[in-house]
Amino acid sequence: NGSSPNESGTGETLVIGSSGFIGRFITEACLESGRPTYVLVRSSSNPTSTKATTIKFLQDKGAVIIYGSITDQEFMEKVLRDYKIEVVISAVGGESILDQFTLVEAIKNVDTVKRFVPSEFGHDIDRAEPVEPGLTMYDRKRKVRREIEKCGIPYSYICCNSIAAWPYHDNTHPADVLPPLDRFQIYGDGTVQAYFVAGSDIGKFTVMSINDVRTLNKTVHFHPPSNLLNMNEMASLWEMKIGVMLPRVTISEKDLLNRAQEMRIPQSVVAAITHDIFINGCQINFSLDKPTDVEVCSLYPDATFRTIAECFDDFAKKISETAKAVSKPVTASNNDMFVPAAKPEAL
Ligand code: NDP
Repeated sequence: NGSSPNESGTGETLVIGSSGFIGRFITEACLESGRPTYVLVRSSSNPTSTKATTIKFLQDKGAVIIYGSITDQEFMEKVLRDYKIEVVISAVGGESILDQFTLVEAIKNVDTVKRFVPSEFGHDIDRAEPVEPGLTMYDRKRKVRREIEKCGIPYSYICCNSIAAWPYHDNTHPADVLPPLDRFQIYGDGTVQAYFVAGSDIGKFTVMSINDVRTLNKTVHFHPPSNLLNMNEMASLWEMKIGVMLPRVTISEKDLLNRAQEMRIPQSVVAAITHDIFINGCQINFSLDKPTDVEVCSLYPDATFRTIAECFDDFAKKISETAKAVSKPVTASNNDMFVPAAKPEAL
């Protein structure tokens, strides 16, 4: 990433939420960039759990593990001072957004952090207006933004849009499951486009942008033209990868609103945001016309994004690996090999 005007150097970076879905991508990218990487972990959980395995993996790659919680302000101030942290990236989950208030207070008091990235990693929450309960989550993220600005903390807001995966309306971590293998649920008429960005690129471009003076106090939008697709196109691409045509079922606007109104957390939050993306077009219905907007492809014209086709290849590979593990031949028509891994998990 030598093309980014270096501002915060390769300074000590603290990542919060590394055992989570987005946090792991960020931490891996941080380590790959060569930055001294510190990882805050809430508690030492069961060593065989997925989260503990992730932390061990990151530790083996060079991350320094610090045990504690962002809700302990005194502790956080000590961590920031003792480790001379220059960059803080938070990827806490939807239920912990307001916990970041204590973190913001600690960053303000220590006054040595050159860049703070709060937990966003989605849409521009000052522009988008999803229905409830998505709106409540956005309101919380907005409150964190206002507090950061009030405290004069240097920041970047990362708006990376959707993760490259099938956009299930009830799963907060859609890249953890395979795209459909029985039928596609298409939202509305399936023609509204969205940006689908690989998790590794969310990490890569977040880390590139914290190193860049041009993203200081800016909202960083991910608009790679190669990754702009609608659901009908996504479905056809996946059918090509698996060599099977699947039935398409329409999920109407009303269906999505009903799912949102059920107020099941977090599934209804995802339904509300899915409605905003695929019915309202919240990723594409505005121009980048504010002085605080920057866009990654313009910032880094030589850097490439992984395509959806490449990401779908990874999913298809997982299917064939699963098939091999159960000693079944891999053929496009052998549909039953897809079944065990194919069901989107409820949260
Ligand atoms: P997860 O729930 O997967 O992970 C949250 C992480 O934060 C966990 O590691 C958790 O630790 C840690 N954490 C929570 N509270 C604290 C605390 N008080 N102190 C220290 N660590 C804490 O989060 P997601 O990856 O789902 O969400 C991260 C962000 O990304 C959110 O803003 C979310 O809205 C967004 N997002 C975007 C997506 C997209 O497609 N663009 C998809 C999913 C999320 P522990 O292990 O102890 O619980």
